[in-house]
Amino acid sequence: MGSLIMGISGVRGIVGESLTPELLVRLGMAFGTWVEGGRVVVGMDTRASGEMVKHSVFAGLLSCGCEVTDVGICPTPTLSIAVRTLGASGGIMISASHNPIEWNALKFFGPDGVYLDADEGRQLLDIYYQGDFLKAHWDGLKSVSDYDGAPEEHVRLVLAAVDADAIRARRFRVALDCCNGAGVEITQELLARLGCEIVTINCTPDGMFPHNPEPTFVNLRDICRLTRKAEAHVGFAQDPDADRLAVVAEDGSYIGEEMTLALAADHVLDERKGPVVINLSTSKTVEDVAAAHGCGTVRVPVGEVNVSRRMAELGSPIGGEGNGGVIDPRVHLGRDSLIAMALVLEMLAKSGRTVGEIVAGYPRYHIVKDKLQATRARAVRAVRKLAEEYSGALQDTSDGARFVFGDAWVHVRPSNTEPIVRIVAEAPDKERAASLAEELRLAVSRHLETV
Ligand code: MG
Repeated sequence: MGSLIMGISGVRGIVGESLTPELLVRLGMAFGTWVEGGRVVVGMDTRASGEMVKHSVFAGLLSCGCEVTDVGICPTPTLSIAVRTLGASGGIMISASHNPIEWNALKFFGPDGVYLDADEGRQLLDIYYQGDFLKAHWDGLKSVSDYDGAPEEHVRLVLAAVDADAIRARRFRVALDCCNGAGVEITQELLARLGCEIVTINCTPDGMFPHNPEPTFVNLRDICRLTRKAEAHVGFAQDPDADRLAVVAEDGSYIGEEMTLALAADHVLDERKGPVVINLSTSKTVEDVAAAHGCGTVRVPVGEVNVSRRMAELGSPIGGEGNGGVIDPRVHLGRDSLIAMALVLEMLAKSGRTVGEIVAGYPRYHIVKDKLQATRARAVRAVRKLAEEYSGALQDTSDGARFVFGDAWVHVRPSNTEPIVRIVAEAPDKERAASLAEELRLAVSRHLETV
């Protein structure tokens, strides 16, 4: 068996090893039982394994008496929106997101089109492990139907959230890298309707990822080069399921994934004030940008659903994650690269400035990431001890422990999906970020030896 990661936020495995049809049918049965045989919307990214995964999941869902709606290849946010607009009981997205091509995964959504939260995810796993699934008789079985209206609904919501005329008037030239993923068609449609001239790279939706799909600097050299060569106003790069976006400045420089949310928040808060919701590992730049608009920032545990839920509670106008995940509740409560692009373009149109000029005005920080091997149980105990050791520091222990040291911070958290402790440190200069990460790494390893 290859790696299989069964977590409360979804199930991920390697095709041809751990992600077998047997497992997938049972997961379909577990989810079909969780939605009590209701209607389930299913979408997938462009991975070649999508068909095998999809049909296995369909069999499980149908056996529970579920009606299945197949929206085909689409971004994760498009699937979320379809769950809501179709009034379904839940949704399943088949995508291993930014993970390499041999992986695939199932992500589960509730009737509101938002990821299952920790309690719901645990209920689903309990059903899976207990194996007491709903079983429909021959006359209670329903069918699978195709629905092709999901992308149009998504594009319509994005266009309604921005001043599309102002964007069209600028006739932007946009360089686009969709990583041959689920965003290819819908993104070009959106940009065309925003009057953009599009120059593409990796826009063949065949799931053959041209580079490691994680939208970080080393993987995005081609889009940076294209942006500069094509003299584009901006470059955009998506991950394979198009929920995350990285932005490239007009001179071809990669400004960092963390800047996507900073730009979106800066722009949205211009007109609509309210608290910004981000996770504990997101850059302080977002906090600073919000503060410049007189708005506060609320930090929540890592996991998109935690951001979504808190945004709904607080009526937050904008939020997301530092990994290029922007959430604008006018479209829906999940990360969405399409609204992120539209907001950046609207910002450029209305300000008359370039991405490079805007970002140059933001405080810059350096993030250093590190990790340590440890089982989750030991990691949790060690991080608890770490929090005691650093009890003098300003800290948040809602997800591991996050310490604030003046204008620097460190977040130490046991991963939910892998046997590791993640350490993220951010400071205005690289050396300080690195030394803080090192200090905390040593402290955690010391505690790991005694727990
Ligand atoms: Mg993704």
